Amino acid sequence: MNIAAQPNDIRDVIEADRANVWHHLTQHKPFETVDPRIFVEGKGMRVWDATGKEYLDALSGGVWTVNVGFGRTSIADAVRDQLVQLNYFANSAGSIAGAKFAQKLISKMPGMSRVYYSNSGSEANEKVFKMVRQMAHRHHGGKKYKILYRERDYHGTTIAALAAAGQQQRREQYGPMPPGFVEVPHCLEYRSQYGEIDNYGERAAEAIEEVILREGPDTIGLLCLEPVTAGGGVIVPPKGYWEKVQEICRKYDILLHIDEVVCGVGRTGLWFGYQNYGIEPDFVTMAKGVASGYAAISCTVTTEKVFEMFKDDADDPMSYFRDISTFGGCVAGPAAALENMRIIEDEGLLDNTLAMGKRLVGNLEALMERHAVIGDVRGAGLFCGAELVADRKTKEPVAEKLVQAVVADCAAQGVIIGATNRSLPGLNNTLCLAPALIAKETDIDGITEAIGKALTKVFG
Ligand code: PLP
Repeated sequence: MNIAAQPNDIRDVIEADRANVWHHLTQHKPFETVDPRIFVEGKGMRVWDATGKEYLDALSGGVWTVNVGFGRTSIADAVRDQLVQLNYFANSAGSIAGAKFAQKLISKMPGMSRVYYSNSGSEANEKVFKMVRQMAHRHHGGKKYKILYRERDYHGTTIAALAAAGQQQRREQYGPMPPGFVEVPHCLEYRSQYGEIDNYGERAAEAIEEVILREGPDTIGLLCLEPVTAGGGVIVPPKGYWEKVQEICRKYDILLHIDEVVCGVGRTGLWFGYQNYGIEPDFVTMAKGVASGYAAISCTVTTEKVFEMFKDDADDPMSYFRDISTFGGCVAGPAAALENMRIIEDEGLLDNTLAMGKRLVGNLEALMERHAVIGDVRGAGLFCGAELVADRKTKEPVAEKLVQAVVADCAAQGVIIGATNRSLPGLNNTLCLAPALIAKETDIDGITEAIGKALTKVFG
């Protein structure tokens, strides 16, 4: 890492950034006195900023994306080769990489058969919403247009995806939202809405059925859920939940959409989060880990049964899925995704994820014994959360600024962690960890050691 050896260039870059870049999810006032952070290099689990400071990244590129780690030259080579051979053609035509990746992906997803390419998680989810709306028009006389989403889940930043956001603060000041999106209750047992009961999972699923009956089953086309809620607080659904959810969807002829934008492609230790629960979704969307951020790609995957609903009708010239995503035709995406998947397979990263995820949860539970502020630890593979509370009995969440102080102290120590952030009123109190699937024991221990020190500093 020699970038800090060129201080003048870097100063120029920082000033250009300060003057001209509008950062995502960021308040810019602090940049009047503090330099914006600029990352310049990454290798494995580590990144370096423009000052030369090294960080252990427990967030896979900040938003749970770089599943196979930084600096993968084989993916860069695959992308380069593809760009030289053919960078782009609109996806109404096919491509070699697009066909090969779809085939490989489907081989990991029994029951699925079709892959629709686009660029971001939001877009992949919107494709599903559009498909459901079109199916409602074509096959249900305009009924079955409503989309159910769950409190605390998130499905993206575009207006329709935001309409399906169970995180109130994400929607604030962006209304009015489009109609036809209906919320169902969350399924976080730690914050049970039904008191302490033995069958929380089943009860939380029944709450979905109650919403369906209230709205009218014949108005509802889709239930959209994260397999493990990510930014809403790393919520691993309780025992008995998914079986009942599947049963309810079948009972009322409602399609089940699993948003694997975060969990997809290895994060939970299986290829897909839903595969932990034995369910059979009708739609699966994915984005972040599909190519680990080496190229932009997202996929909307569905069954032949759904695909058949769009089959040509000689009497209806509008009978096909009339949707396009210009950059869904960038062939770098599937080329990178193919190599990304090869790496996960050849390096045994799914098994590593399970083993290291267990260690991460174990370490967090050990921290819980020393720090009363940790109220709950949750995890699925290399995706973990620790909820911070002022009082374990009342479960009163600690203030968001204290959670952010823990995040900042870890960064000062050279470890990047995250937290639920301005998404859930009064509940932005969960530390979030999603290290790359290549993490080693020393990385995991380094992450939790830094958290322990930060908790001591902030809470004593
Ligand atoms: N779905 C989930 C579960 C997410 O966490 C996100 C982003 O964090 C999205 C969808 C939206 O993805 P994108 O930012 O690529 O549009």
